[in-house]
Amino acid sequence: MNSDMKHFSRSEQLFEEAQRYLPGGVNSPVRAFKAVGGTPLFIKRGQGSRLYDEDGNEFIDYVCSWGPLILGHAQPRVVRAVKKAIERGSSFGCPTKLETTLARMVCEAMPSIKMVRFVNSGTEATMSAIRLARAFTGRNKVVKFAGCYHGHSDGLLAKAGPGMATLGIPSSPGVPAALTSDTLVAPYNNLEAVEQLFKRFAPDITAVIIEPIAGNMGVVLPKPGFLEHLRGLTRQSGALLIFDEVITGFRVAYGGAQSLYNISPDLTCLGKIIGGGFPIGAYGGRRDIMEMVAPLGPVYQAGTLAGNPLAMTAGIETITILKESSAYEELEKKSSLLEKGITGAASKTGIDIQLPRVGSMFTIFFTKDVVTDYETATKADTKLYAKFFHHMLAQGVYLPPSQFEAAFVSSAHTDKDIQATVEATEKAFHSLL
Ligand SMILES: *Cc1c(COP(=O)(O)O)cnc(C)c1O
Repeated sequence: MNSDMKHFSRSEQLFEEAQRYLPGGVNSPVRAFKAVGGTPLFIKRGQGSRLYDEDGNEFIDYVCSWGPLILGHAQPRVVRAVKKAIERGSSFGCPTKLETTLARMVCEAMPSIKMVRFVNSGTEATMSAIRLARAFTGRNKVVKFAGCYHGHSDGLLAKAGPGMATLGIPSSPGVPAALTSDTLVAPYNNLEAVEQLFKRFAPDITAVIIEPIAGNMGVVLPKPGFLEHLRGLTRQSGALLIFDEVITGFRVAYGGAQSLYNISPDLTCLGKIIGGGFPIGAYGGRRDIMEMVAPLGPVYQAGTLAGNPLAMTAGIETITILKESSAYEELEKKSSLLEKGITGAASKTGIDIQLPRVGSMFTIFFTKDVVTDYETATKADTKLYAKFFHHMLAQGVYLPPSQFEAAFVSSAHTDKDIQATVEATEKAFHSLL
């Protein structure tokens, strides 16, 4: 690993230029480094566990394109399969057998999913799943949890108002209050708040949507029994339970969080890993619900490039590799090594951190209190995280450029990568003192 002083002059120049033509110089806000300061890296290429920027710096990458790259960058088998696929044409707008293959693989991995519809992003997946839930139940209100992210569709860009469980208020200008007025927001892991909402609104609640392991306020684990209770509550009241497994699907286990916790949601949203690094999303679930999707049923939802052969091919290849290897055991081993190393370095240096982790997803929270929801997550010291981030970057380790994003280990990360990361962490913690 190259640990001399790094220069970012080329990235700085490219960022300048980018800002002239792209709002903030980026196509997704968190990439702009606003939360940590400094200049985003402009990336030239990725290989295995490594990112290489335009200045020629090399980094061990723990962002992995925000989750999709569970096998690392440019995995040779995935690259080979996609090369072959693109030579046959990149999109037809007609059915291909690839779509059936990937759909079958998803259904086999997650038995709660009997049928699936592919879309182009996680945002589309959750938006469409909620439309479907409303059509199926004839009800409108959706319960979501503060700090959970389900993409940027209007109705889900809702934050909690004052109080424990509230009507959603828009979390972005441009979202009419009317479009979040059917979104109810409760604190994560707070069963009492959810029960309160059901007491008041049960006949109108169409669904509870949740990240079964939260990944978008940093990693936050569900308390034992919480998901089971949601399953019970929804079943009792005729509402649907929607698991947003866009991150956790094929990440925390082959069968996703639902297999870890042994819960069968009515609908599941997927994305990220199932596209092997290409744009994708999917929603699927109970047959009687999915049969309402057009053209089989009346609920309209379509996509010009949906199910396109490149994303299908990369997804099939990725999931095949995951299935036939001991990927999850190895990811657990490496991630646990990393966790032990980082928490060890923290206690050695006396830095207060929390490190929630499930398999190969984790967050280093700079706080001494256990993180259970959005409120406790946002108690973390974001300024300290920003300093830590830059100390790590200078040592060739690329972590999420925000305290509130998950970090990911991939199959391409070696024990040496982990060791180097732990050593860098200890140095970084020292520099924070
Ligand atoms: C990333 C993500 C989404 C949105 O997916 P996009 O492909 O970025 O639209 C939705 N839900 C969860 C849990 C996510 O992590």
